[in-house]
Amino acid sequence: MKKIITGIKQNIKLSNFNTFRTGGKARFFYEAKSEDSLVKVLKFAKENKLKFFIIGNGSNLLINDEDFPGLVIRMLIKGKKVESKREKNSVVSAFAGESFDNLILFVIKHNLSGIENLWNIPGTVGAAVVQNLGAYGVEVDDFVESVEGVDINNFKKFVFNRKDCDFAYRDNIFKRNKKLIITKVFFKLNNNFSPNLKYESLKRYFLDKKTPDIKEVIKAITEIRKAGLPDWRVIGSAGSFFKNPVITKEKCNELFADYPNMPKYEAKPGYVKIPIGFVLDKILGLKGYREGKVGTFEKQSLIIVNHGGATYSEIDSFAKKIEKIVFNKFKIKIEREVVEI
Ligand SMILES: Cc1cc2nc3c(=O)[nH]c(=O)nc-3n(C[C@H](O)[C@H](O)[C@H](O)COP(=O)(O)OP(=O)(O)OC[C@H]3O[C@@H](n4cnc5c(N)ncnc54)[C@H](O)[C@@H]3O)c2cc1C
Repeated sequence: MKKIITGIKQNIKLSNFNTFRTGGKARFFYEAKSEDSLVKVLKFAKENKLKFFIIGNGSNLLINDEDFPGLVIRMLIKGKKVESKREKNSVVSAFAGESFDNLILFVIKHNLSGIENLWNIPGTVGAAVVQNLGAYGVEVDDFVESVEGVDINNFKKFVFNRKDCDFAYRDNIFKRNKKLIITKVFFKLNNNFSPNLKYESLKRYFLDKKTPDIKEVIKAITEIRKAGLPDWRVIGSAGSFFKNPVITKEKCNELFADYPNMPKYEAKPGYVKIPIGFVLDKILGLKGYREGKVGTFEKQSLIIVNHGGATYSEIDSFAKKIEKIVFNKFKIKIEREVVEI
């Protein structure tokens, strides 16, 4: 083993660093607060042939209870800046370890807009790109101008424009290539605010007020989320556990002929994305279904919750059960949105 660099901690409990609150100990654990220190610690991992994993706020992870024999790097590089102002939009940069909510507050403070519907999600800027964060009719990739980071094949800096990132629903180049570590993201934001109220619950909230200001939109999202989602500080979860399946239109019509009210969204030509939350809640009646310490959230079954002290294996078995119920009824294999370590 090469000399352990300053700041690396050992045998750190990972359950303290993710919102599901599972996970064994990491043999090595490092909080990266600068790009230089990040490169240094990544080199340490490579030289010692250690497996490594980057975490942000740990809000989309399901971590195994067995100890992780490698290095976990917590991304804590922070900072944000208005880079340039153009006629219709402006560019704001943020380092990967910034909280996404702090970025939104910064954007609002500078009279810019676009990403406000992504308010109140407990993640970091870097992971928002990896996960292609989405909520209330907005996906983060609509506002990404470019992404900077380190390619650990050669430790050189990369700069990808939006097109290079190859964004799709919950997918992009960073999901597929774990050797690309994001350090900074540039966002293209609107100079003039225009509320995006296409999403049903927001539309309903603003029935009597067609042109709310940005602060009213933030307030609405806070209230809507509070009414339908668990507070991640109190109840263990990782948000939506499963991805919405994308299936052919024919298969959809055939499988869901008895459910004409089921919403469907256009995906690629010939395909539709079906809201798995609707299937679990309204068709299978799984809201609040519980087995021991694990269950679906009482207000929406797409969220699996840790009622306290559940292990990785218990959550994994529970999720497998849901996957089986869906498969047996509809012959659809649902995929997990959470990242498993
Ligand atoms: C209560 C609750 C509500 C939620 N609501 C939503 C929602 O409305 N919409 C939504 O899309 N998600 C939602 N989520 C899920 C989650 O918050 C998002 O996916 C968020 O982007 C994860 O950010 P994080 O910093 O916690 O990432 P982590 O969970 O720590 O990591 C996620 C993935 O990103 C990778 N990663 C992290 N940082 C970097 C980096 N700098 N470079 C390369 N890879 C990196 C990790 O390796 C991992 O694969 C919710 C979660 C909870 C608990």
